[in-house]
Amino acid sequence: MGQTATKPTVTKPTFRILNSAEAAQQLEVNNAYDNYDTACRQCRANRAAAQRIQPCAAPEGARSAIDAVVLPAWLADHLKGTEIKIAFFREGLPHTRAPDTVWLPAAMPDFQTTFIHELIHISQRLWPNQWTAAYKATWNMEPGSLPAALKGRLRLNPDTFTSKPFTWIAPSGARWTPALVFANPDAPRLKAVRLLFVNSGGGWQSAVPTEWMQTFRADDPSICEHPHEMAAYTLSVNSGGPLATYLSTNSR
Ligand SMILES: [Zn+2]
Repeated sequence: MGQTATKPTVTKPTFRILNSAEAAQQLEVNNAYDNYDTACRQCRANRAAAQRIQPCAAPEGARSAIDAVVLPAWLADHLKGTEIKIAFFREGLPHTRAPDTVWLPAAMPDFQTTFIHELIHISQRLWPNQWTAAYKATWNMEPGSLPAALKGRLRLNPDTFTSKPFTWIAPSGARWTPALVFANPDAPRLKAVRLLFVNSGGGWQSAVPTEWMQTFRADDPSICEHPHEMAAYTLSVNSGGPLATYLSTNSR
């Protein structure tokens, strides 16, 4: 109709790749911000299961792989002006640490999806109020708490560690707070986990509530443990539906 389409200018954040000595130093910086390593050391189950990070040099091609990643416009906006540190380690699960570090295993298939997933976790740290509002508006979830009896069984996740647990208010009015626990706290393994749903009375069950499945169609423990993971997963794998719409139309 005669309009001239002007493409919005997207300013990317800066991505600084750390060498192995800088990465080792960055671990100390990260812990000074979030105390995650300290918390793992203080919890018997997490001390036994936590991955041992061995910082290493960036693999060949890391720079070009990072520069080729296309960010959704809302994510580029959330991250603009931030210098994001990228640190590599020999093996383990990709994750982020406060305030602005992405930790990636040196060999990582499906780089684009994983990298965007981790950048979403950085945004969640930078703009917690924006994400809390988005979860309320799109998923009817709000900050909650977990019973003290679960302490010592929870698998601590660096990506959600500094956030509260979130409670989902189901269409029936029932309130469920997901929690991720070690399947066997006496012999904890990072990938041997169970998802629990804590009810409003403080009791819990491992059966996924029918309403949850009907609404979210997901029961993978590592996705459902926290809306930060649900969001990072859904927004990096596909367009993200109503959550992406909310983030695109509500300024941070
Ligand atoms: Zn994640």
